[in-house]
Amino acid sequence: MDSRGAPGEGPTGEIGGGLFFVHLFRIHLGGRKAGKRKMIRVVALGEVEDAPLQKLCARLYQIFGVGCELGPDMPLPMSMRGQGGKSGVDGIELLEKVHSTRHLPRSKDITIYITTKALKSVKLPTGVQEQPQSISLPEKGGGLVSLSGLTSGKAGGNAAALLTARTSRLAVHEVGHLLGLRHCVEAKCAMYPPWTPAFAASETVQLCAFCQDKCEQKLEET
Ligand SMILES: [Zn+2]
Ligand SMILES: [Zn+2]
Repeated sequence: MDSRGAPGEGPTGEIGGGLFFVHLFRIHLGGRKAGKRKMIRVVALGEVEDAPLQKLCARLYQIFGVGCELGPDMPLPMSMRGQGGKSGVDGIELLEKVHSTRHLPRSKDITIYITTKALKSVKLPTGVQEQPQSISLPEKGGGLVSLSGLTSGKAGGNAAALLTARTSRLAVHEVGHLLGLRHCVEAKCAMYPPWTPAFAASETVQLCAFCQDKCEQKLEET
């Protein structure tokens, strides 16, 4: 247990009136600071199971140290419901559509959307990225993680754990980009390029010390 308690939570009982004042004072400071800080939101598009998303939220909170909130869910945009299948939907289009509905233009918060749809291959200046598992729009504070295909492969009995770990790693990766981070050369780091076999096989979700520091710096700035 953390004996310091949550921010704004004052000591209780014992001294009475004096402490009540201290308590209010602490709420005030905590509140001002909290108002400036970023929040992370995880929003399911359509039907996604709740339990892994709750785990994901806990993981994001643990890694970035900022509040992470789940939901409310959003329906897939009408125009994209029948689309997709194996070849996938246009991830950028989907992200732009849902994010412009959901996101307040001046908010500094980060939203990670979760979809079960596969994402279409994307043409990049450096070549084609085959069916990406996640994308983000850094200038808009929105990221998208696809759960499609994450349960297949050689995960075996550990599929659920791997699914959660991979989903979490992808979400951490996109939050990292949304905070201005680039890819990292450390294979165990969540900022390692996600299309690599090492990224897919890893069961841990962590940032290297360098990326962790950088995130903390970015979060201090905002
Ligand atoms: Zn990336
Ligand atoms: Zn790193």
